[in-house]
Amino acid sequence: MHQRRPYPRVQSGEDLQNLAPVRIVEVAGSGRQISLADGEDPYDAAERFMSAHPWDTRFRYLTVQRFELPPRPGWDLHAWASHVTCQAVDTLESGQAVRCSLVPHSDGVDHATRLLRDGQVVGVHYWSTKSP
Ligand SMILES: [Zn+2]
Repeated sequence: MHQRRPYPRVQSGEDLQNLAPVRIVEVAGSGRQISLADGEDPYDAAERFMSAHPWDTRFRYLTVQRFELPPRPGWDLHAWASHVTCQAVDTLESGQAVRCSLVPHSDGVDHATRLLRDGQVVGVHYWSTKSP
């Protein structure tokens, strides 16, 4: 598990256009995703994956841009906590357990929860789980 910011916050469409896209090879039918490093060839990544999983021969090459909109001032985030959430668990460096507060998501990779202190959002914690 590691912390990163897979969904950079943007304030406008112009901000969005200035972000570098994320390149992914997705394994068809399983939802597994292979994130590509800068300059990494998607064909090579798919071949490496297939050498360990010979039955997986179909892939999708995706170029995506993930982003997050800023929460609106005055929103009561506690009121929103009653919606159904992903509930994936991570542990902060402090030892505090946190649960993913996103709606259930199919990528299964990037989880997030807002960090609250005295009812105020003080940050967002992101983490990933490895595909089995
Ligand atoms: Zn999640």
